[in-house]
Formats: sequence, structure tokens, C-alpha cells
Amino acid sequence: MTKDYYDILSVKKDATREDIKKAYKKKAKKYHPDLNEGDAEAADKFKEVNEAAATLGDDQKRKQYDTVGHAAFSQGTRGGGGFNSQDFSGFGANADFGDIFENFFSGAFGDIFGGGHGRRQRRGSDLRYDLSITLNDAAFGTNRKIRVRKHSLCETCNGSGGSKVETCGTCHGHGMVRQAKRTPFGIFQTTTACPACQGLGKRILEPCKKCDGEGRTLADKELDVQIPPGVQAGSRLRLNEEGEAGGPGATPGDLYVFLDVEAHELFTRHGDDILLEVPISFFQASFGATIEVPTLEGKAKLKIPSGTQSGTIFRLKAQGTQRLHGHGRGDELITVQMETPKKLTKKQEKLLKELSKEFGEGAEPHKSLFARLKKHMHK
Ligand SMILES: [Zn+2]
Ligand SMILES: [Zn+2]
Repeated sequence: MTKDYYDILSVKKDATREDIKKAYKKKAKKYHPDLNEGDAEAADKFKEVNEAAATLGDDQKRKQYDTVGHAAFSQGTRGGGGFNSQDFSGFGANADFGDIFENFFSGAFGDIFGGGHGRRQRRGSDLRYDLSITLNDAAFGTNRKIRVRKHSLCETCNGSGGSKVETCGTCHGHGMVRQAKRTPFGIFQTTTACPACQGLGKRILEPCKKCDGEGRTLADKELDVQIPPGVQAGSRLRLNEEGEAGGPGATPGDLYVFLDVEAHELFTRHGDDILLEVPISFFQASFGATIEVPTLEGKAKLKIPSGTQSGTIFRLKAQGTQRLHGHGRGDELITVQMETPKKLTKKQEKLLKELSKEFGEGAEPHKSLFARLKKHMHK
């Protein structure tokens, strides 16, 4: 049924605090909601890992846990305020889990065990915006303006929700109240959001008329999105605190811009390189030629040596997309495809037949091919 906290973190019973911290970082990263969007199982695991770390990372709690055992203990913590995994949702995929761990135990995420002065506040939701850009935008970066309908901090009250703000008398501004809980193993101190002020720590006596004391209003907001050069389809940009406003005193969520790169009519992309197919004639391939080829920024000259075979790939250095967070550019790779004339005039056909005779291939190419194949097999 319920798993042992040591098992959840995959650490031994005699693990040091450092071991636990390391194990927690690893697991929390693996199951972090930002990296496992929409995965309910990962969300449960994440919760489990946090619950385990909250206990084993605290020396006193750990001692109790070791003494009284899992079943009783896990109920003890769950019943009392518990851990709200939402508290972690604000951390991006690149967040430093070391900080999270430290903050976790210093109470920055809310007063988990009644020891600190953390205030449980709602954080605004993260938002997602899907943005389609061209291959050139992706290659060289661009600025785009987007319009997002969202709750923003109310400008009238500056997000405070109103005037005449009074510190909540029930929780004295802490937003949390302590409760002693009697269990067969002793009295546990637990904390919950203050019922009088819903965890805000204050009460608004004259709510703002514009936002009805909510501290936020729904409106369209225009935002500048800086798209760095070299982004790929599926790249995700984070605009800090441009998500939904959370209400009085709460931090807004973040806005995530998911990029999609439109298909280009000529080029396909491969990493930082772009690929292009160019048709050449039999004569260009035979005699050699200098042809003009399109590039992302215009055109370039490509020299085709005489005797070039169909399917040969030429490389135009540094004509691909810029490298993300790096210097330089990828290349443009051009595959030449030899085109066979589709329709011949009588005169052309006659000349080509003469030419093929000159090559010793006869009027029927199949015959000569089979002849050559035979020769090849006899070798
Ligand atoms: Zn307002
Ligand atoms: Zn209160």
C-alpha cells in the first residue's frame, strides 16, 4: 500500500542528510510537473517524493518517523496542512533543485510543520500561448507582439484588492493558524490556511471598485516576445510573471510561449543545417556549370564541376540557421538531381540517339545495361 519514505527516495535507512538531499533532487527533477505535463502518475510520484523528503530531510521528523513507523506518521503529516505540490509549480525546468530543497525546509513554501512564518498564498496560473513563426524567424530571431487575454494586477488598487487594509486578527497577519492535533503517538502541531482571511493575512475593509477586491482584472494584454536566433519547433520560451495574476499579494504565474516553425516552401531543416534539392540538366552535370541557388537570405552561386552525378550533395558553409546560444551558423546542403527531359522534339531525339550510339550504348539502353550487368557478374 503506502510506500516507505526511504523506499520512495531509494535511500538506505542510515542515509545522511546529504544523501537524502541528493536523492530528493534526482527524484524531484524526474517527476517535476513542468517536465511531465499532464502526467497524473508523475504528479502523484512528485507529491510522494516531496512528502518523503519533508520528513526525512528534517532530523526531528525523521527521528519520529523511525520510531513510530510509516502508517501512523504519514497520516499525521497528511492531516495537518500537508504538502501542496502546487507550491512547486512555479519552478521552471531549469530551476535549481538545490534551492528548492533548502527553501522547502526553511519554510518558504508555506508553513509545513508550524515552525516558520511562511504564508500560504495562491500563485497565479501559468499560461500557454502557441506561436507560429517562419523558418527565417527561427534562423535569425525576431520580435513578435502577442495579445493574451488574462487576469492582470488591477491598476486601480495595484493588486492590493482595495484600501483600508487591516491585519487579520485571527492569524495576526501570518495567513496560517496552528492547530494541535492529538494522536495516539502524541500531540502534533499542524498548520492550515487561516479560515478568517483565506490565508491572506489581512482583510480588505474597502474593496477596490474596479476589481471587487480581487486585486486582478481580466483584459487583453499586448506582450513583446523576443525570439532568439536558432530556436527549433517545440522550443518553449518563458515570460516570467506574465501568466495569470493570482490575487492580492500573490505572485503571478508565468507565460509559456510554445513555438512552432512553419514549413518552408524550399528548405527543410536538419538541426542548424538547411537542406535543399536543386534540379540540374544532363548537360550542366556533364559540362559543369555555375548555377544560382536560393539561400535563407537571398541567393548564392554554386559551382557544379563537370561529371557531377545525380544525388551529389554540395555544402554552402554558414548558410544555415544561427546556432542557439552559440556562435556561427549551420550550413546549407544542396542535393542536385539530374532531370531527364520529359518531351523531345524529333530533332532532339535523333541527336540523342546519335549521341548514345557514340557512347556505344545502342538505341535501347536496357540492352546495354543488361550486357554490362552480365559482364559484371562474370567477373
Ligand atoms: Zn483593484
Ligand atoms: Zn487570517
